Amino acid sequence: STSPADHAAVDPAIAARLPELREQYAALQARDLSLDLTRGKPSAEQLDLSEPLLALPGEGRHTSAAGTDVRNYGGLDGLPELREIFAELLGVPVDQLLAQDNASLRLMYDSVVQAMLFGVPGGEGPWSQQGEITFVCPVPGYDRHFAICEELGIRMVTVPMTPEGPDVDAVAELVAHDPSVKGMWAVPTYANPDGSVITEDVARRLVSMPTAAPDFRIFWDNAYAVHHLTEHETPTADAIGLAAEAGDPDRVLMFASTSKVTFAGAGVSFFASSPANVAWFKQHLAFRSIGPDKVNQLRHAAFFGDADGVRAHMAKHREILAPKFRAVVEILTDRLGDTGVATWTEPAGGYFVSVDVVPGTASRVVQLAQEAGIKLTPAGATFPYGEDPRNANIRLAPSMPPLEEVRVAMDGVATCMLLAAAEAASA
Ligand code: PMP
Repeated sequence: STSPADHAAVDPAIAARLPELREQYAALQARDLSLDLTRGKPSAEQLDLSEPLLALPGEGRHTSAAGTDVRNYGGLDGLPELREIFAELLGVPVDQLLAQDNASLRLMYDSVVQAMLFGVPGGEGPWSQQGEITFVCPVPGYDRHFAICEELGIRMVTVPMTPEGPDVDAVAELVAHDPSVKGMWAVPTYANPDGSVITEDVARRLVSMPTAAPDFRIFWDNAYAVHHLTEHETPTADAIGLAAEAGDPDRVLMFASTSKVTFAGAGVSFFASSPANVAWFKQHLAFRSIGPDKVNQLRHAAFFGDADGVRAHMAKHREILAPKFRAVVEILTDRLGDTGVATWTEPAGGYFVSVDVVPGTASRVVQLAQEAGIKLTPAGATFPYGEDPRNANIRLAPSMPPLEEVRVAMDGVATCMLLAAAEAASA
């Protein structure tokens, strides 16, 4: 994969292409397109893969394997048979895994809120009563992680991403001396947006680095654990196990969901951590809910059968998604490959391609695309407060439109990237 680099190598000849690129852009605008590469949503074709869920569990089937009536209250941990399937896939002990309602983002939000209001095991009381609280935010990253911090008044400091996950030297330096650094975000597998995978070495360092705060937590958002775009099923580093080995078992909170396995609005979410953190999470959860939607969990368990059922199902997603990602990379390579105008990632999984354009031009690229009927994620969205200091990063999400539209949109986006670079070089 291509790692983001500086753009010293932009071909100065790009300025000479300005008139030609303006013509190309005018032709693009004349096509009156209406295309959207903004958010990582599954396509209708992908949602159709899970259509049988709508008929499950089916009338008369409302009893769990253990004999409980899933229609009724209770069962705060979630349905054991579904937890078993996902414990295997997520590589965690089943008794340290909770199955909850439809959004892992809510579990992340609740975890941070609980830490702010009540503190965490091994800590010194509520974070909100300890002055300024800081989170380490690897960039480019997921905008909704940053939005949680922003909403709760948590200061964000950034570290760069590398192909092996967050720059662990930079993280270790930040957490070592400043006790206000209580947390960090991490997407271990096929990160949003750069597709990087945290190696076992990096994971080991993240869970064992000395931290000034005694109650430092890694919010390990395993959103794309089973979302492979190739036949190679990249394993996720076992951060919870490694943290226990390193003597700080409570450092890692893991989140996952079936949002991009079944239905993005009606899946099942998961929380996993040390026994102490699971007890802490449940203790507060119990005030909020008498139990999760076990009917939905039973329907998911019936649909998958077992972990191999999930793997087979994900292979069908891959067949739909992989050609779209190939198209993105092919078109970027064809149109920009030898210009130095951009670098991009070639993810082996997940939902995004991360592109770095000529510094200073990302917002112009997004504007040009918008005015040609191609919606892109706003420039800066992958940084805290929506501010990319280099104005260079653009997140592409090719999952939703049909393949042919992805091709048309990407060709247009390439034109916009070239035009913005030519404008900047001529200014
Ligand atoms: N985490 C990451 C990294 C994501 O990209 C997304 C979806 N865009 C989510 C979490 C949201 O997950 P959920 O639907 O389970 O809330």
